[in-house]
Amino acid sequence: MKMSAGVIDGRKVSAGVRARVAAEVSDFVAGGGKPPVLATVIVGEDPASEVYVANKHRACEEAGMESVHHGLPHETTQADLLELVARLGADDGVDGILVQLPVPDHIDADAVVAAIDPAKDVDGLSPVSAGLLAGGSPGMVPCTPAGVIELLDHQGTELEGAEAVIVGRSKLVGRPLVSLLLDRNATVTVCHSRTRDLKAVCRRADVLIAAVGVPRLIGAAHIKPGAVVIDVGINRTDDGLVGDVDFDAVSRVAGAITPVPGGVGPMTIAMLISNTLQAARNRA
Ligand code: NAP
Repeated sequence: MKMSAGVIDGRKVSAGVRARVAAEVSDFVAGGGKPPVLATVIVGEDPASEVYVANKHRACEEAGMESVHHGLPHETTQADLLELVARLGADDGVDGILVQLPVPDHIDADAVVAAIDPAKDVDGLSPVSAGLLAGGSPGMVPCTPAGVIELLDHQGTELEGAEAVIVGRSKLVGRPLVSLLLDRNATVTVCHSRTRDLKAVCRRADVLIAAVGVPRLIGAAHIKPGAVVIDVGINRTDDGLVGDVDFDAVSRVAGAITPVPGGVGPMTIAMLISNTLQAARNRA
């Protein structure tokens, strides 16, 4: 008889994190703190960025936090954007700074992210945040990898001593997860496009995390029976949004699995507001 994996409900876990942050914001304010303030920046007109940022503002509001938005025209120069980022860094009324990516091609995104005050780097992507995380004393943790750990914890997954395999080594997801899983005493392996036998390496995993960007790359043959599978991928296909994991096939082998959509996706905003509260507390 085939097993059927438990589905890890990211929407539910995200709602729980957001409710927890809202309660903590309420305590913070009752204790004399000012409501945390998130500043967002978009350069140019990108409909997807507008939607993402609007959702972030709504999540702030629901958690009792404030947000301010700076919408800059496409032709904004790098110097002007750096000047705004510096101004927000110096502004005592701002706790978190988020520059929504992508920025137009004439702007060096890495230079802009590097200019964000590390104390306000709620996306956790600046070199200082990445260095602190890699060194084992995290400051701001990037939101999507933090959301993955939150899902694993919610699931009650034992990470200590577990074989964790990450597919993907991006700055945004794969690399931060290496540090987060090591900090939890997992044995961590990272796969990428040059990995020789992806199936064999993945089959070792008690915990498999796919952050690749290739629709349904991970099939049943990649899965150790009973493994916990976290699918970070979001791919637009003719069948709609799909992950990097073949959900139907893998569900028959895995112990637990995140769906796409409704798995990792909803966690990112929850972790952003959690980081914004943390930044406000650290600065208070
Ligand atoms: P990325 O920067 O493109 O990195 C992809 C990684 O996958 C690279 O390390 C690449 O290897 C590896 N890779 C590509 N093809 C492979 C293959 N056939 N076999 C093994 N490894 C392969 O992507 P990302 O930013 O990490 O995003 C990954 C996915 O997660 C995307 O679908 C993205 O949309 C999604 N995502 C979701 C959220 C969210 O839920 N909120 C947030 C961020 C990203 P090389 O390094 O060798 O090139």
